[in-house]
Amino acid sequence: MKRRAWLGWMGTAGTAGMAGMAMAFASRAKAEPARSGATLGTVVEMQVVRLHLRHTWTTVMSSSEFRDVVRVQISRDGVTGLGEGAPIPRYRETATSALRALQSVRSLVEQSDPMLHVSLLQKIQRRLPGEWAAKAALSGALADWVGKRLGVPLHRYFGLDADATPVTTLSIGMDTPEMTQKKVQEAADFPVLKIKLGLNHDEETIAAIRKVTQKPLRVDVNEGWKSKEIAARKLDVLAKQGVELVEQPLPAAMLAEAKWLKTRSPVPIFADESCLASSDIPRIADTCHGVNIKLDKCGGVFEARNMIAVARAHGLRVMLGCMVSSSVSIAAAAHLSPLADVADLDGFLLIQNDTHESVGTRRGKLILSDRPGLGLVPR
Ligand code: MG
Repeated sequence: MKRRAWLGWMGTAGTAGMAGMAMAFASRAKAEPARSGATLGTVVEMQVVRLHLRHTWTTVMSSSEFRDVVRVQISRDGVTGLGEGAPIPRYRETATSALRALQSVRSLVEQSDPMLHVSLLQKIQRRLPGEWAAKAALSGALADWVGKRLGVPLHRYFGLDADATPVTTLSIGMDTPEMTQKKVQEAADFPVLKIKLGLNHDEETIAAIRKVTQKPLRVDVNEGWKSKEIAARKLDVLAKQGVELVEQPLPAAMLAEAKWLKTRSPVPIFADESCLASSDIPRIADTCHGVNIKLDKCGGVFEARNMIAVARAHGLRVMLGCMVSSSVSIAAAAHLSPLADVADLDGFLLIQNDTHESVGTRRGKLILSDRPGLGLVPR
């Protein structure tokens, strides 16, 4: 990418608390020309980028006008890879903690050959507990670099058919019935919608949506129903309204109740907050019909590929999901999407200031770039 574009993002970077990290980046950027070239090893740069939402984004967990994400750029042999991760507050991650985590493994990455990304990511996993967004950003940058170095788009690196992508939902955040109806009408190009629920007036929200559309609906409760009895009653109502699936109806810790709910739910249940990475799947497999796999939860595109295999081995369906993200993150997930049953990869459609182009949609179907790596082009 163009150096000026990369430096220009500094103006969009986040809060005062991140200023120290941003300055660290700037001083490195100044020194870099002396280090460029094929023989000088791997160069790692990182920064925070603030993504501004089109609508205030409200779920049962939080409400926000913007989200800060971290980006990593890895350069070697004249090739540059770019990755992004969205820190998830529920797992006590912030952009500041993600940058600190990235700084702690920077020298390891700089001493490594990015082509050996599997062994590098194993070392990082051992050294760095948690901080999944930081790992997702690193993983994305490595995937982009490897794809560009080999001259293949990431889906071809994984041996996947670009024509086999699913339709992505467009998510409708919580709002008044009137605004929810307006957002549904704005989503005319998307044949399947995802609705955020989890409050007392869920039934009224779905009824208001059904007045303006008969499209298939998927629902995300984000742990909002606090007992199995409430969840069972609401699932019955949603089934009658044609809801196709429900994400995380109960709090993640309520595994016994979730197991009971699975046996009597008329709607398939997908685990999200109760399932971060591959190692969680054996523990939650009897509580759900599928899992929502997100790069920002599991630590990036390579672990997401592993997680899909583990989910399949447990007889589970696969959703590929996302946080509020730019095309940099969505592209990495979308290149894996031919392996998914359903996709919720709309993060880049929810923001005003996407910095890159890569993935497109046609009537909701994900369209992959055939450019090498993630296929990103600065806007
Ligand atoms: Mg969810």
